[in-house]
Amino acid sequence: MEDKQTFAVGDRVEQMCATCGEERGHIVASMTKAGKITRVSCPICGSRVPYKSGTTRRASTKVGAPYDRARTYRRGQTIMHPTFGEGEVTAIIESGKMDVLFADRMRRLIHSV
Ligand SMILES: [Zn+2]
Repeated sequence: MEDKQTFAVGDRVEQMCATCGEERGHIVASMTKAGKITRVSCPICGSRVPYKSGTTRRASTKVGAPYDRARTYRRGQTIMHPTFGEGEVTAIIESGKMDVLFADRMRRLIHSV
């Protein structure tokens, strides 16, 4: 493990979302050339806010439960997909379908089968 945490746009960091009123994994939206995070966006409400350095840690410290299509998920839950890795449920589309935000992009998965 390296001592220095390095981030890239698209990485996840924990930050308090003022709009949602809770701490959650935010997506790094922009950075300086020196590698400092400047803005992050909330995957749930979509608000872009300045990054508060020093108050955050990597979102991956808490690992989601393995994805199981037989389970019923709720918005905001974190899952671990065998292929796509960790993702967060951002929306329940209709019964049996949900949008999950993974490190690379949003994917629509089935659940509650
Ligand atoms: Zn939010």
